[in-house]
Amino acid sequence: SPLLLAGTAATYARFSFEVFPARTGAAALALGHAVQHLSAAGPDFISVTYGANGSNRDASLDLLRYLREHTDALPLAHLTTVGEDRETIRETIHAIMDAGVHDFLALRGDPPRGLSEDDAVVAGSPSSRDLVELIAEARAERPALTSVGRTAVAAYPNGHPLSRSRSEDLEWLLAKQEAGAQFAITQLFFEAEEYLGFVSDAADAGVRIPILPGLMPVSTSAQLQKVASLAGRPAPERLVRALADAGGYAPELGVEHTVSLARQLLDGGAPSIHLYTFNRHERVLAVLRELELLTPDPVAGRP
Ligand code: FAD
Repeated sequence: SPLLLAGTAATYARFSFEVFPARTGAAALALGHAVQHLSAAGPDFISVTYGANGSNRDASLDLLRYLREHTDALPLAHLTTVGEDRETIRETIHAIMDAGVHDFLALRGDPPRGLSEDDAVVAGSPSSRDLVELIAEARAERPALTSVGRTAVAAYPNGHPLSRSRSEDLEWLLAKQEAGAQFAITQLFFEAEEYLGFVSDAADAGVRIPILPGLMPVSTSAQLQKVASLAGRPAPERLVRALADAGGYAPELGVEHTVSLARQLLDGGAPSIHLYTFNRHERVLAVLRELELLTPDPVAGRP
């Protein structure tokens, strides 16, 4: 979107999506269908996750290529450093840019299965701040393209799992900004105040880059538990109970919660909303329709 690319303050609400590479052929077919609908909604970008330890590196690149070649959406590549050396990371950045993708979300990545934060492989991996710099260096090697592409980083409204204080989180985000990050996307959270309080503290600490709230409309009790573990907070009791009463599956409840949360965030000044799609278009498009951010409606063709 010209608005986001120009880095100006948005005067109207915008949105973006996250998808992950499919693990089976059938899932890939369904995902192809979903991203067509997502793209038709006109997002600022569609981000593609990157497996810990490069496990689905080829699948991520395939999906980025698919978005680039078969949709109108701007693809944004998540990239992680955990378990990789700088040279391998550099090659991966160039492979992604060779595919025509120049926007990145620079991450350290979760410890690979079986390893903890203390393992030398994890502790010795370049950080997300290092990755922001590596991406800038790779861009500088392609002078014709230096004005293309933006680098995003992660932010944690409820604290990074290793953080001991809010000030540590803010210092780390400031360090990523100083390294050249142009915007941030948050980890999941449940309450508007968690995001708005964090953004306000970040501004006081000198963070100037836009911070996009990450939201996921959940359908099942299992997804709600997963979000709670990522958010580092228990899910709202009302939502837990309502999902359980519905037999553990109630997509409309997740949509309703996300719409209400998104309204409070946008009213509170959020520049845009980033929706974790779980590779489905129906629920995130229902959220956007409810927020009146879809014009014209890409599915039904309604204005
Ligand atoms: P970094 O900011 O580089 O942090 C790494 C290390 O820095 C930490 O281990 C710690 O030593 C230190 N540190 C960072 N912050 C603090 C702090 N506040 N206080 C103290 N120490 C700190 N993971 C994937 O594998 N693939 C993905 O595609 C992916 N996508 C994501 C998208 C979003 C929007 C978010 C929020 C997370 C995503 N993750 C993904 C998860 C992410 O990789 C993990 O949360 C990871 O543990 C940290 O990554 P980071 O880039 O924030 O790490």
